[in-house]
Amino acid sequence: MRRKIVAANWKMNLTLPQAKELALRLNTWVKIHKPVAEVFIAPSHLYLEQMNKDLRNSSITIVSQNVSAMPNGAYTGDVSAEQLLSVGTKTSIVGHSERRAYHHEVNKYIGKKITHLYENQMSPILCVGEKLEDRESGKHFDVVREMVSVALERQSSENLKQNLIVAYEPVWAIGTGKNAAPDQVQEMHSFIRKIIGEQHGLQVAHNTTILYGGSVNAGNASDLFDQFDVDGALVGGASLDFDEFTAIISARK
Ligand code: PEP
Repeated sequence: MRRKIVAANWKMNLTLPQAKELALRLNTWVKIHKPVAEVFIAPSHLYLEQMNKDLRNSSITIVSQNVSAMPNGAYTGDVSAEQLLSVGTKTSIVGHSERRAYHHEVNKYIGKKITHLYENQMSPILCVGEKLEDRESGKHFDVVREMVSVALERQSSENLKQNLIVAYEPVWAIGTGKNAAPDQVQEMHSFIRKIIGEQHGLQVAHNTTILYGGSVNAGNASDLFDQFDVDGALVGGASLDFDEFTAIISARK
């Protein structure tokens, strides 16, 4: 059975006291409500060690928002997979559209990040998604195919079969309040599963958890989760609001 996951991407928000408070509230809520979905939180790199300690006995998984494409060395400001692992973090988001847009990250480079994660027995949440102009010109499938297949081309199918999460996040839906329609999301998720199957075999495709991200909120989550190939969500803005985020988690039955 594929994992059902609702993940919070806190981006560059919250001070350490605010992050600790929200994480501890969520932890208490998860203990009481025992949701069907696994809950992930991606705080700032700065807080990973502290939050891994605070949530030591929790079912919530603390993940990184990014990882370097290099194993170690003279890369000022970067954080390596090995360093993340040394503070107890085993999963990292890679290829978020904000990294692609503001840091010019391209598919091959994102593939190198994934390689380093697997080399350290860690795992990726690979974000892919087309821009508005790609969708309007009918190129969205080609763009997403390239993002998935280049990032995964050098990975071993065995690693992918054990642990691969993909997040489909159309850029035009991120932070805009305008989510993709459930049928558009289902169509793209099933396409992503097909590409993974062609490249790495049906078992990898079947095991891959595919999350949707882009203006998910308490009001639209259930309709999105009703889609066959939608295993969960990656949530930005709404994950900073305790009531909104817990309502999204509850919607994942
Ligand atoms: C994101 O950036 O990963 C995201 C999904 O953001 P939002 O939920 O705010 O659209």
